[in-house]
Amino acid sequence: MRGSRSGRYDNAAVRAGERKGCFMAQAMNSAQTSKGMSRRAFLSAAGLMGLAVGATGTFAASNVSVAHAEEATGAPATNPNAACMETFGKDTAYLPVKKAQWTQLNGPIGFEADPVDKSKIARTDTCDFLVIGVGLGGMVAGLHAADEGANVIGIEKMNQGRMAWESVGGYNTKLQQEIDNVPDPAEYMEAIMRASMWRARADAVWGFIQGSGAAIDFLNDMVVKAGKGVSYFSTEQAPAANKMDVIQAEHKINIPEGVKWTSWLKGGFVWDSLLETASTYPNFDIRYNTAGVQLTKDASGRITGAIAKDADGYYAIEASKGVLLATGGYEANPALMQAWVRPEDYHTAEALAPCLGPTGDGHMMGLAVGAAMDPVPHCVMSFRSVSQVQANKCLSAGIWVNHQGRRFVNEGLPFNYAANAVNIARIGGHPVWFLFDEGAVEARSEAMPTLRDDIVAMEADGNMVQGDTIEELAAAMKVDPAELAATVEAYNGYFDAEEPRDLQFNRNISKAAPLAKGPFYAGKHTNQLLVTVSGLIINENAQVLDENDDPIEGLYATGNASGGLFSDAYPRHLPATSTGRAVTFGYVAATHALKGE
Ligand SMILES: Cc1cc2nc3c(=O)[nH]c(=O)nc-3n(C[C@H](O)[C@H](O)[C@H](O)COP(=O)(O)OP(=O)(O)OC[C@H]3O[C@@H](n4cnc5c(N)ncnc54)[C@H](O)[C@@H]3O)c2cc1C
Repeated sequence: MRGSRSGRYDNAAVRAGERKGCFMAQAMNSAQTSKGMSRRAFLSAAGLMGLAVGATGTFAASNVSVAHAEEATGAPATNPNAACMETFGKDTAYLPVKKAQWTQLNGPIGFEADPVDKSKIARTDTCDFLVIGVGLGGMVAGLHAADEGANVIGIEKMNQGRMAWESVGGYNTKLQQEIDNVPDPAEYMEAIMRASMWRARADAVWGFIQGSGAAIDFLNDMVVKAGKGVSYFSTEQAPAANKMDVIQAEHKINIPEGVKWTSWLKGGFVWDSLLETASTYPNFDIRYNTAGVQLTKDASGRITGAIAKDADGYYAIEASKGVLLATGGYEANPALMQAWVRPEDYHTAEALAPCLGPTGDGHMMGLAVGAAMDPVPHCVMSFRSVSQVQANKCLSAGIWVNHQGRRFVNEGLPFNYAANAVNIARIGGHPVWFLFDEGAVEARSEAMPTLRDDIVAMEADGNMVQGDTIEELAAAMKVDPAELAATVEAYNGYFDAEEPRDLQFNRNISKAAPLAKGPFYAGKHTNQLLVTVSGLIINENAQVLDENDDPIEGLYATGNASGGLFSDAYPRHLPATSTGRAVTFGYVAATHALKGE
């Protein structure tokens, strides 16, 4: 689903609720500067903060975090940086962090912070294993537990589970073995750790790598079992031109013969098959339009089930073996996005997510029972523009320039890293442009028959301009003509060398061409935000950990509700780690829970 552009950095536009949100910054600042404040105190402050956000959509309980800070330091909270506030305005509080609004996705929140009154709980259902959220991770977990003979209840808040993906990534699957394409596990480990700047949790990363083979084999078996001609295959990727690691981890989807399908997004075929297979398990009871509201626990602290809510009201579900949080991320919860994600990661992005289900309910349910969570800022999955409009296929044909008419990044980087650079270039609401020439259009016209029509359509929408010369193009872009001409001249000059080289950003231009033939085109470049990928800390068994790194008995998490794998940016160049994680830890959680260890 695509929405309108999000708001800009604009303190004046910050709403009252967000103004209170600056106490988060206060709590962080106190935690960073005060030796007296324990990690527990800070995390509980942040956690309570989050609960308030989820429960009310505002930061109503923000005074709680201040109370913790005061308690820990033994001194009343003071303003150590009045000059900073004077310069940046009172919304910035102790830290000069400007805010941005996320208004594009706003889903129904299932989590409730206040304990549901017993008198409102109509009945208690029982099962062995409870799955909260039946997207990819929840579906695989439920199927695996059911396949092992357990009685499984899966509750899904929306009228269908979320299914937005194409490929799935992992190590040592039968499909990889069949074509001798098994990645090196240590290289895979290092690549994930490197992509997180070594902030990832080694146990979770290694657990993912080690567990993924059996999990993806099971996923493929369940897909094939439906008998609809859908299956996965292991891909062989060429070496990257951008010096990033290539890990042969990706599995793509075979669709039924004779079906004409041009979209890259083929996950719907897999989902259709999984639903078919799930329907053959009478012991896997999937209940739609049913939200997980809060977790229940016994006197020892073990998680024993959850309170669910459907159209008739609340009821309890007891799960003797375990509860899995498979509720996805929180991209459809504006308050959490604004609290936990870097503003620059979403302030000019468009949402690319066809579901309003992921509102961070699992994050909240976990925090409410003492779970630890990835530190903020959290990490999102960003794509550079992936519009199906063929004109956007010229994105990498030439160069990208900012509002000053200057290049700012290696245009050949993996989507997520290129997206980071675009986000930074767009701070302040400036446009970023991708430039290409008539030569690029001619070279692509045969393979992309609607390319010229798409250019006309983008021009009509105000998203593309053209000019017979670079100076004319610059005028249409409202960019300094001399600056743009100098940028293009420098870029074209790289092709004069015997071995062409990008002397500024080191992009591999061996397959690129100079911008030589008019007319010249400039399209507006907009990033897309797919999902959030940070969450509750888990170990190699998918058990949710508390702040002491001890498992919370009976509680598991998978997919985008879980954490420990990513930091800074989702590593798009390590293929399909997010679906791989959802599948793997769903499978691992069911295995561990049924063992009853
Ligand atoms: C367009 C697009 C393409 C993508 N392509 C890829 C790809 O090719 N490879 C890849 O690795 N990743 C891809 N992703 C990311 C991928 O979709 C997710 O990372 C992955 O599906 C996460 O799975 P999950 O099981 O954690 O959560 P989700 O798939 O988000 O499922 C969570 C489910 O929980 C439900 N839920 C939430 N709260 C509650 C509650 N309180 N009670 C009950 N139910 C609840 C939601 O409604 C939802 O159905 C893509 C994303 C998008 C948007």
